[in-house]
Amino acid sequence: MTFPLENLDLNDLMLKCIELAKQANNNNYKPLVGAIVVTPNGMIRGQGYRDYIGKGLNMIMHAERAALDSAIGYAPGSCLITTLEPCVRVTRKQLFSSCSELIVERGIDTVVYGLLDKSACFNASAGVNYLYQHGINVKRFNNEAIQELIIKELMWNPDQN
Ligand SMILES: [Zn+2]
Repeated sequence: MTFPLENLDLNDLMLKCIELAKQANNNNYKPLVGAIVVTPNGMIRGQGYRDYIGKGLNMIMHAERAALDSAIGYAPGSCLITTLEPCVRVTRKQLFSSCSELIVERGIDTVVYGLLDKSACFNASAGVNYLYQHGINVKRFNNEAIQELIIKELMWNPDQN
């Protein structure tokens, strides 16, 4: 069974992800990322955002993992919507395995991502390619106005660095 994406209001869900992303403890640390898990019948059963956690807030919990952890039991066959392409590489500050591996492990059917991750430490499309190779349906979100909002509100502003 393929996840019935046509039944979802992806614009509304991506806007919800943007609002979630902004809940991070220190929302000056970009990129902010928000993610939601939706079941095939359209219920939101998991949500999360990228945040600094641990002693001294020196570790990072990624949005996708936070969303999947809160979706206990509902992940298999569901859709994960995220503002940014899921990672495949684990950085020094990040706990646990990469989000792409976790998405596969948890049985997610479909991933919708807002933007490719073009940050310095990741290869853009590596996450998308990993997911494709592991049989996940991957869809690039295609509302330009909302993608502009993701860039403006959640991503690094190159002019400020
Ligand atoms: Zn990640």
